[in-house]
Amino acid sequence: MKLITRARRMVRLAIKIAWALLDKHHPVLVHLIPMRRCNLACRYCNEYDAVSAPVPLAEMLRRVDLLAGLGTSAVTISGGEPLMHPDLDAIVARIRGRGMVVTMITNGYHLSPERIERLNRAGLDHLEISIDNVEPDEVSMKSLRLLEPKLVWLREHAEFSVAINSVVGSGIKNPEDALQVARRARELGFISHVGVIHDGRGQVKPLAEREMAVYRELRSRRRGPLRLASIFQDNLAAGRPNEWSCRAGARYLYVDENGLVHYCSQQRGRPAIPLETYAKADIEREYATPKMCAPYCTINCVQWVGLADNWRSPQVPLAAVVPRARAVAAQAAAAPSAPPGRALVG
Ligand code: SF4
Ligand code: SF4
Repeated sequence: MKLITRARRMVRLAIKIAWALLDKHHPVLVHLIPMRRCNLACRYCNEYDAVSAPVPLAEMLRRVDLLAGLGTSAVTISGGEPLMHPDLDAIVARIRGRGMVVTMITNGYHLSPERIERLNRAGLDHLEISIDNVEPDEVSMKSLRLLEPKLVWLREHAEFSVAINSVVGSGIKNPEDALQVARRARELGFISHVGVIHDGRGQVKPLAEREMAVYRELRSRRRGPLRLASIFQDNLAAGRPNEWSCRAGARYLYVDENGLVHYCSQQRGRPAIPLETYAKADIEREYATPKMCAPYCTINCVQWVGLADNWRSPQVPLAAVVPRARAVAAQAAAAPSAPPGRALVG
């Protein structure tokens, strides 16, 4: 059964990728936030609160329908912690029912065998869990030892694909933990990603020597398309800029809990247009708008989306934006109030 589900998923994905390459006027990926609240409080995170209520189901379904109307290919449900939403299964099912690929990013704490089976039935395609360390500490409780039973349940019950994200960068005490996390992910048959933690503006902070050694080790194990993603990450880890065109606001959208469309989780407030009024004209405008934060951006999923268009419609040459981008990055690094961010490696 798992094999048939996987084969069908691969066919649907291939069709979506082909459509992304053929038509540049629709969003390829949308991050959709059903609730901002989270059960954890990772020290580096700027994407959660401890009190907010879930967005009502009827409103979430309306937003899913609006995204389908824009021709969206895939929706990633994120947060906060999406598994805390009481109607998550219905949201997942609606996304699949409207023909879109549906994935989710979670801290995994609320997973159980029964919960995983419900996600199977709802039609979830892919799930990502970030694990920051082996033992919990004051920075993060997303720890391999605490999550180990959940990972075993996922291996036994999940019909969707599973990826484990490990991270290196400022804030994580023992960078070598990422090696152990990646090893365990492979033992369980999951996909393993490594991300570089960004600051509160989505910009990279170059890795220290120990972090760089761990990054190189993990990078040497990447195979297939994951090697392609390494091109972006390798440059960032070494503090070098990337030449790419960020299509946030066009091919990638971040829809927050208030139904506003932003460039991404780290550039909230731009353009901050309600989803119900977001139209093809907005997509065309943002498709062509260069983002000054692009050269040092660490938001890997948006870079992946950018691959669909970099070859045909580059926005501006790197030389035109790097000096400004360097100034923005230096300003961010110097600002003591700059909040931390979180690694989005999806
Ligand atoms: S990183 Fe994830 S688990 Fe941690 S506080 Fe932020 S939303 Fe919650
Ligand atoms: S380059 Fe794009 S994805 Fe990256 S921080 Fe800027 S707007 Fe967000």
